[in-house]
Amino acid sequence: MNIILFGPPGAGKGTQAIKIVKNFGLHKVSTGDLLREEIKNNTDLGNKIKSIMDKGLLISDNIINDLITKVLSDKKFYNRLIFDGYPRNLEQAINLDLHIKKYKQKISCVLSLDVDKESIIKRILGRQTCTNCGLIFNEYFCPASNKNHSCDPKFLNKRSDDNEKTILNRFETYLNKTLPILDFYKEQNLLYHINGMAEIDQIFDKIRSIIASLET
Ligand code: AMP
Repeated sequence: MNIILFGPPGAGKGTQAIKIVKNFGLHKVSTGDLLREEIKNNTDLGNKIKSIMDKGLLISDNIINDLITKVLSDKKFYNRLIFDGYPRNLEQAINLDLHIKKYKQKISCVLSLDVDKESIIKRILGRQTCTNCGLIFNEYFCPASNKNHSCDPKFLNKRSDDNEKTILNRFETYLNKTLPILDFYKEQNLLYHINGMAEIDQIFDKIRSIIASLET
């Protein structure tokens, strides 16, 4: 069972992915996280990636396809992946299909978190990620405190592409390139719409019931 978590930037994909990993023992693949790792390594490629990311544009399909091939061909993760932020355009979706077939795996569902643009902007501007444990907080809606987070606050980090100008570009990129792939998955009867404006736990309850109803 492989699952795709779909939605605009700031829809809460990362937050729900953490819960799915914990409850269903899947392995999370966030292409955004893999790209940020490359940036941390300070390589030429990492620097190029950062400048594209900071403009709110998509990184080239060749780079993304290489990252995904590595994960799909790894027997450790066989048929137990949750994709967060991938695929981001039709070419990537078609490439994923080819590789899923090649490695004899299956996409079981595409979970689309539906959230409006105004909420996305507020969510992204307040977003903080703990670089130590990976938990995601929001300065306005769900601040980190000693009740929900045990790491030192110094690990709380804001992403360089989480600023107002880049968010608007990322949202445009989402509308033009990413949203159209929903039809591709709808035609395959894999698509489930989820109200991403609900409470985090309510969203997860819905996700849990969908996953539980799937054939593995
Ligand atoms: P995310 O962490 O998913 O919000 O992604 C942050 C940024 O990384 C995006 O705005 C893109 O610049 C880049 N990125 C992440 N995933 C992909 C992908 N599948 N294809 C192209 N670019 C991506």
